[in-house]
Amino acid sequence: MPDKMLKFVKIDLQTPIKRMVDKRLDDFNEIYNEFIHEKAKEQSSRCSQCGVPFCQIHCPLHNNIPDWLKLTAEGRLQEAQELAHSTNNMPEICGRICPQDRLCEGNCVIEQSGHGTVTIGSVEKYITDTAWNKGWIKPIKISKELKMSVGIIGSGPAGLSCAEELRKLGYKITIYDRYDRPGGLLIYGIPNFKLEKFVVERRTNLLKSSGIKFQQNTEVGKDISLEELRKKHDAILIATGVYKAREINLPGSNLKNIFPAMEFLKASNKKGLGDKVEDFDNGILNSENKDVVVVGGGDTAMDCVRTAVRQNAKSVKCLYRRDRENMPGSAREVYNAEEEGVEFIWLSNPKQFVGKNKISSVIVEKMKLGKPDFSGRRRPEPVVNSQFEIKVDMAIKALGFDPENLPKLFDNENLLVSEWGTIKINYKNMETKIPGVFSAGDIVRGASLVVWAIRDGRDAAVSINKYLELKREDKIIAA
Ligand SMILES: Cc1cc2nc3c(=O)[nH]c(=O)nc-3n(C[C@H](O)[C@H](O)[C@H](O)COP(=O)(O)OP(=O)(O)OC[C@H]3O[C@@H](n4cnc5c(N)ncnc54)[C@H](O)[C@@H]3O)c2cc1C
Ligand code: SF4
Repeated sequence: MPDKMLKFVKIDLQTPIKRMVDKRLDDFNEIYNEFIHEKAKEQSSRCSQCGVPFCQIHCPLHNNIPDWLKLTAEGRLQEAQELAHSTNNMPEICGRICPQDRLCEGNCVIEQSGHGTVTIGSVEKYITDTAWNKGWIKPIKISKELKMSVGIIGSGPAGLSCAEELRKLGYKITIYDRYDRPGGLLIYGIPNFKLEKFVVERRTNLLKSSGIKFQQNTEVGKDISLEELRKKHDAILIATGVYKAREINLPGSNLKNIFPAMEFLKASNKKGLGDKVEDFDNGILNSENKDVVVVGGGDTAMDCVRTAVRQNAKSVKCLYRRDRENMPGSAREVYNAEEEGVEFIWLSNPKQFVGKNKISSVIVEKMKLGKPDFSGRRRPEPVVNSQFEIKVDMAIKALGFDPENLPKLFDNENLLVSEWGTIKINYKNMETKIPGVFSAGDIVRGASLVVWAIRDGRDAAVSINKYLELKREDKIIAA
């Protein structure tokens, strides 16, 4: 149980009971911490310190996993967390939400030999949470602030990591974001049950205390132009993520109570953060007591079905046009969702949304897998005369995200994009075609992972620093 929750319980109680409950909570806390500590030690000591660290190779940040596992096994937690922080700006977040089964843990030699992986993510979370609780994590203190400044568009993990790395070097940093809170998908996309929001706020508050300025509710392209930012700052990073929801154009798509995944998840996250969310409070975006259908098979779809379960939906079904083996979402997420009571209807595709004003049912067609397409995956094909109907009160479309039209939004044709709309960069230095404008994260890769966004943000910081160093030298020569 997070400390914050314990504190919250303590404040709300009357004095005599409070003392008793405080004592129990403290005892519980002690036992709980001891238990977790022993677990982390036990797991860490399972690491065989193999010669070729496949876990480290397959971690996008190349975290020095074997060494921090060794330090944890020896009880040297402060050194372990320092090592974890040397390659990762938010280890406790990665420890919570990386798909470890596809990255570090999936490639652990012990896992490969059939003995079950070392739970690397949990140890990473444990050592960093401990560091927070012990007060070992401190704001950045710079010896001298440089005159040069960097403007960062987007406060998701790519923007935040880049900001932190550049601040350590002394640059003035301002992050611009159109949301009212920093964090990007960490705050408004990923649900609280996977990533508690106080964990994200703890990080962004640390960056604020480190002297990084956050300008929220500022949409670049609307409230301020890219050109204005270029005049204001010596370099720019575009880290705006991908937000254009893929659509399903079916008869009945315009009916009420059919929502894009982000609208549903954002409302739920805002509610969890204590905001007043009118469309949630009036029941529109709340799935309580409703028959919910989620269309899609990726991790966003899994987050939607699991959020609906937590909101006490009457039933939750997931429609996916391929089968379990070909689902893009993590196997662990599907397993969790099934355990929580979500019904997966594999090989099924919606054909029509039905209803008068609001959706009341969906007509679904059965699919079978045909020959592989150009991507090598077997193409789903409809089964003739296989349609059936499902009762629905709320439908959520979770078919993935594409980039918005940034050249248009930023009114700059020199911002080149790929055929998918992602920003084209020079991969050697992450610079776009516009001098001094760099880009990182999902807006370059397409929808990806937090750990890759952090990696990109760190790489961009290295390139931006090199660019600014050259600019400084040029100025000295010119002077
Ligand atoms: C529902 C969901 C669940 C996910 N779960 C996981 C998971 O469990 N594990 C995992 O590793 N990854 C997960 N991901 C993916 C992960 O969240 C992203 O890969 C990651 O957040 C990308 O980081 P980013 O910094 O590039 O962009 P984002 O996190 O999207 O941040 C971009 C920021 O830019 C801002 N912005 C956009 N346009 C403008 C503009 N014009 N002006 C100003 N600001 C702007 C946005 O408001 C936002 O704050 C999930 C994604 C979704 C949608
Ligand atoms: S950052 Fe992600 S992939 Fe790397 S060690 Fe941590 S959990 Fe594993």
